[in-house]
Order: sequence, then structure tokens, then C-alpha cells
Amino acid sequence: VLTLTGELLAERSGALSVDEGPERVLGALGGWFAGLLKEAGRTADAVCGIGIGVPGPVDSATGRVVQPPIMPGWDGYDIRGRLGRAFAEQTGGGGDVRDAGGAEGAGGVPVLVDNDANLMAYGEQRTGHPDCAAFALVKVSTGIGAGVVVGGRIYRGIDGGAGDIGHIRVPEGAGTLCRCGSYGCLASVASGRALARRLTEAGVPAESGSDVRELLAEGHPEAVRLAREAGRSVGEVLATVVTLLNPGVLMIAGDLAGTPFLTGVRELLYQRALPRSTAHLDVVTARLGERSALVGAGALVVEHLYAPDRAEERLAALGL
Ligand SMILES: [Zn+2]
Repeated sequence: VLTLTGELLAERSGALSVDEGPERVLGALGGWFAGLLKEAGRTADAVCGIGIGVPGPVDSATGRVVQPPIMPGWDGYDIRGRLGRAFAEQTGGGGDVRDAGGAEGAGGVPVLVDNDANLMAYGEQRTGHPDCAAFALVKVSTGIGAGVVVGGRIYRGIDGGAGDIGHIRVPEGAGTLCRCGSYGCLASVASGRALARRLTEAGVPAESGSDVRELLAEGHPEAVRLAREAGRSVGEVLATVVTLLNPGVLMIAGDLAGTPFLTGVRELLYQRALPRSTAHLDVVTARLGERSALVGAGALVVEHLYAPDRAEERLAALGL
């Protein structure tokens, strides 16, 4: 729970797997609303909006996930409606939520849905690099995704598919089955999930990106070696990204974001990208850690509330 200026009032975290489908995941998440509000010391009618990030492409007009590579059962699911109802049921507030997230009709609480890497990029750009006109963030956790902020706004492409770089085919992935069902994706060789699998095969048990993060924090030699190698694979793809966008900041975030991975990224990136596109490029790791998407979601809600047309509506509603 954040204030409009981004001050954190209450926070809760827990492990949720998108594999369990939207009903279970959003049901669990929606169950937190009342407790969070109580902890924040606020009532339901003080809530201006709800922001949520999901690991897949989102149609920003409908707030629905569109053909996600790794989210079984989520395609086209009404996330806004589900969370809006959960909020109303939990808190007894929120007014008419049938149109939650739409044109903010009848006092409904808007629910804004976006890709998680987009929200991370937005949160980091707004707080740490507000003057950077072209900002890119790559999230490498269990999966791989990227968010781009151009001119202070999230760039989503025409179908919300911009930045979904995890499923680009790479030569070193040949013959490796990806979670999305294809062979040879970047995520099949360089994601936290891929590294966990390879570590397990090498006799070091790991299941997820967060397990790999813990091994990296301990300086486990095999984890460090694999993270640097993964960084090289991602760096090769990023050479194209950087050449296309010419960003001022390229930020590495997620479970693998650390020195070994960053070193691998730099090795390939500077070798493969044109000197012109990297001359003023800062390659850095994320500052906000696990809170970057949270901060981005809060900023998105604020942006929605104060968009010029809605500001007019609100002033009109107040008789001004
Ligand atoms: Zn894939």
C-alpha cells in the first residue's frame, strides 16, 4: 500500500506460482486487501487504484494477458474484474466494480494491469533516472523479460508484446526445450529456471531463480560460472536491443542481477553492438530490488488518476 507520493504504508509478500492459474493466484492475492489496509491504517474508500504486474504480455486497453508464453490459463482472463470484486468483497468498499479499471465509472476502483518488467522499468526510471529519455530494463529471474521507458512513458508496442525477449531463439539453445513449448529460446539457457536445472544436474540442488540467487550470494563457484555464461547469452541479444533503442541506461534486474551476470552481459554487449550505440550507455543493476515493480505499479496508478481527461472529470465531479 503506497501513498500518492510513493511512501510505503504496508507490504506483504508470499510465493505465488502463475502455473496455478488466475483463479488461485488472484484469489490468494485478493485475500490480502483487508489485512493490508488495516496495517496501513486506511479505509477502503481512500484507495484510488490497484496496480498489478504479471509475467506476460498485457493488452493495456483491456488489462488482459494476451497469448502469454508461460502463464497457463491466463490468456484473456479478466484480471481487473477478479481483483475489483475481491477488493469489494474483502473491504466492503470500492463502490461499483463491475467496470473496475475501465473509465473509472460510478466510483469503481481502477485496476491497472501491466507486464512486470514494464512496471520494474517504470519504477526504476521514475525514481533513479527521471531524466533518461530512453531507458531499458531486463529482468532475469525464473524467466526473462524486458521493459522499455521512452520519453518518460512505458513503451508497450501495439499489442503489449514489446520487450518479450526471453523467447528469442539463440544458437546455444539449440535442442533445449523451453517452458513455452519451443526449442532454443534465450530463457531456456539463460534464465534462473535454466540455471537451476543445470545446477541440479551438476549435483547442486536448485529449483528456482531465487535458489540461484542464494547460491550466487554465497559465491558458489558453479553458480557464478553459469551466471556469467548466461550473462553472455543475454548480452548478445541485448546488443540488438541497444542498437535498436540507443538507450542511456540498460538496467539488469531480477534474481540473477549481480556482478557475474553483469560481467557476462558487458563482455558480449560491447563486442557485438555498434560503438555509437554504447558510447553513452550505462549498464547497471537495479536499485530498488524486489520493490521496483511495486513502485512502478504505484506510479502507474498515479499517472492514471492524473491523466488530463480524468483530472477534468474529477474537477467536474467536484463542481469546479
Ligand atoms: Zn520459450
